[in-house]
Amino acid sequence: MDLMYKSTRNADEKVTASEAILKGLAGKGGLFVPEEIPALNIDMDDLTRMTYQETAYAVMSRFLTDFTEEELKDCIAKAYDGKFDTKEIAPLTYTKDAWHLELFHGSTIAFKDMALSILPHLLITSARKNRVKNEIVILTATSGDTGKAALAGFADVPGTKIIVFYPKYGVSPIQEKQMVTQKGDNVFVVGIHGNFDQAQSGVKKMFSDPELAEVMDAAGYQFSSANSINIGRLVPQIVYYVYAYAKLYAKGEIKKGDPINAVVPTGNFGNILAAFYAKNMGIPIAKLICASNENKVLYDFFSTGTYDKNREFILTSSPSMDILISSNLERLIYRITGNDAAQNAALMRALSEEGRYTVTPEMKAQLADFYGNYATEDETAQHIRNLYEETGYVMDTHTAVAAAVYAKYRKETKDTDTKTVIASTASPFKFTRSVMDAIDKDKYRDMTDFGLVDELSRISNTPVPKAIEEIKNAKALHDTVCEADEMERVVKQFLKIE
Ligand SMILES: *Cc1c(COP(=O)(O)O)cnc(C)c1O
Repeated sequence: MDLMYKSTRNADEKVTASEAILKGLAGKGGLFVPEEIPALNIDMDDLTRMTYQETAYAVMSRFLTDFTEEELKDCIAKAYDGKFDTKEIAPLTYTKDAWHLELFHGSTIAFKDMALSILPHLLITSARKNRVKNEIVILTATSGDTGKAALAGFADVPGTKIIVFYPKYGVSPIQEKQMVTQKGDNVFVVGIHGNFDQAQSGVKKMFSDPELAEVMDAAGYQFSSANSINIGRLVPQIVYYVYAYAKLYAKGEIKKGDPINAVVPTGNFGNILAAFYAKNMGIPIAKLICASNENKVLYDFFSTGTYDKNREFILTSSPSMDILISSNLERLIYRITGNDAAQNAALMRALSEEGRYTVTPEMKAQLADFYGNYATEDETAQHIRNLYEETGYVMDTHTAVAAAVYAKYRKETKDTDTKTVIASTASPFKFTRSVMDAIDKDKYRDMTDFGLVDELSRISNTPVPKAIEEIKNAKALHDTVCEADEMERVVKQFLKIE
């Protein structure tokens, strides 16, 4: 029997995995969640013998049960190939007191590649399985990294178009350059005068507009989402937590069944939710350590039980985590209501109407697996500098937020024995300015961004990643900028409808 997916806001909406991937978002703004989290049920000794691709099949086949073995293996083979600069795909590196699970070896050197290299293939396969005739239009709001990873994943994939909206003044210069230099006949990149949350709200509005859907359908198009709300993004992210656990076991770092902690630098709550799903599949993860930057909505939520987005939006040196509405948290909220779509929908209505909601004490009690904390800008920079000085390892700003929060966790809880994995979400080369500033601001102040790239390569003894080499001399191909309330007009213009 197939594992079905239900909407977090409507108990009657139930679809297969491939339908959930195609739709992206459920009706009424709900998210699709699997009716239950399947058990992994594979002996650890067998898991350690698996490649990344084989692990991916073991995990994903349990979630995407309406895909045939051939279909899923084909998607996996096309995704996790030579685009990654290491055969391991997600290598583990030990530094000081934790294992860094490096999720940045794909084509855009950030962790979004882990899911976005496979999503286009899952989507095309889903379209074929469901006999979709329309062309699929991917609408994406990005805080920086998703945009480029989605563009790279979908560029020139037949039967698809992709439109990416990013906050014009809310991404790093290298992130922006990566996006606006994207080639492909089916890609479109737009900067908006607004922040990420406005971009995301604009996209969500278009998704849930039935009139727009009709206009699109008449023109032979339908929307789908590459944002981390798509179950096709979430499921591939579970894989590397399973893989990391098996690798630690293979290295003799842990014995069968030993717990590990996972520290995840968090924005939209997708990556850490994947770790939570891995735990629910049977991987012994003790604490899920949720690390925020100064936009610490999640820290406040875990401490008080109140989620409140009514606050100043802060631009930090970890822009991919500058988020006040962590969309994927809804999947956890739904779960702690006891899968009560009506109760969850009421909370989400409060979030959209008043900008806040409070969970009940019974719900809050179910969050004990999570530990939340945050790092200030100074703490983040300090951790980059200290780790570099102690070990020579250079981490990016997002990973540094996680490292700083992990240090707080160790100090506060005295849990210093549990082996710990830090999700290392971006290459330092993607955020060179902030990283080099953290190491020695005075020395690097006057260097250009690309000058800093070479300097970083020298001091860290790491070659400049191909992704950066490629954009050094590339031409900007996209220069569209619009207001947050003009996004729909821009989409129609690009698709030449109306
Ligand atoms: C997207 C992103 C994050 C946040 O991940 P979520 O799944 O949104 O919580 C952290 N670090 C980097 C580098 C990212 O690109």
